Amino acid sequence: MEDTGVLMTSPMSSYLEEELSKRFALFKLWEYSSITDFLKANKSANLIRAVVGDTKFGADAKLVDSIPTLEIVATYSVGLDKIDLKKCEEKGIRVTNTPDVLTDDVADLAFGLILGVLRKVCAGDRFLRDGHWRISDFELGTKFNGKSVGIIGLGRIGSAIAKRAEAFGCPISYHSQSKKLSAKYKYYSNVLDLAANCEILIVACALTDKTWHIVDRKVINALGPKGILINIGRGAHIDEAELVCALQEGRVGGAGLDVYENEPEVPEPLLQLQNVVLLPHVGSDTHETAKAMADLVLKNLVAHFNNQPLLTPVI
Ligand code: NAP
Repeated sequence: MEDTGVLMTSPMSSYLEEELSKRFALFKLWEYSSITDFLKANKSANLIRAVVGDTKFGADAKLVDSIPTLEIVATYSVGLDKIDLKKCEEKGIRVTNTPDVLTDDVADLAFGLILGVLRKVCAGDRFLRDGHWRISDFELGTKFNGKSVGIIGLGRIGSAIAKRAEAFGCPISYHSQSKKLSAKYKYYSNVLDLAANCEILIVACALTDKTWHIVDRKVINALGPKGILINIGRGAHIDEAELVCALQEGRVGGAGLDVYENEPEVPEPLLQLQNVVLLPHVGSDTHETAKAMADLVLKNLVAHFNNQPLLTPVI
């Protein structure tokens, strides 16, 4: 398959990069300022039959249209929000993602954020390192065990979060497009009602046109001054400007965020707030899961080029 071209959009995993270059002719889009520049500079770009994208740079309409030989987009992510799925479908381009292998890590991190906010883990660490412990005791935190948890999106990650929340003795409720008959948790068909009836609201749904700003001013107000908002989905699920205002005005109790609307930019006021814990989009970033995701991308590509069934097809 050395004559088969694979275009990687970002430097997502050095292991994946290495493994791809062993099997295919690997092209690196990030070494160019745009797809146009890349195509101008690479006469052999007509070899490209696959794109490997990620959460930073997927396969938008421009990229898909620019590569007439494209057959498959294999994203190094479970989220599909950076791929123009409609365009791929129209052009008969296959799409794969990396579900399941990252579920546990993302769910685990949601609890890191919850404990970070409620038990002030990061603030306590800063307090000790800054030498304040010699002078005074650290402030009290807020109990997590038993708090009611509301989950937006009871999919793979949402369900893994619910399972963990059960172990913390938390009553669980959720909002999804449809009620899950197998789930024993309380279902709200409306996200406002979910927010009004939980103490910790966790965003774990897919980002689509319908879930863009699903957490808006009304939802934030419904969560209320003691409520905590956790986002391990995508930044654009939350109206970030509204969240910043609500945090500053005390209309919401705190937030734990792994994702932002305009990554890697984070609103400056968020950095000044004490009642937030901020992570740089690391939900699935463990050595083990990064390798499992890379292996899944590779297996999907190899299956495609060997005319075998895809392991995790989206379309
Ligand atoms: P999944 O199994 O496909 O679950 C997606 C969930 O989103 C489903 O429960 C679905 O509800 C819900 N949903 C879709 N449209 C909705 C709508 N309009 N209103 C309410 N809920 C809606 O996906 P997953 O594997 O759990 O991953 C979920 C998301 O997590 C990904 O799409 C990705 O954006 C994010 N993620 C983040 C990180 C990170 O590093 N922070 C890592 C991995 C994934 P229905 O079942 O009712 O359709």
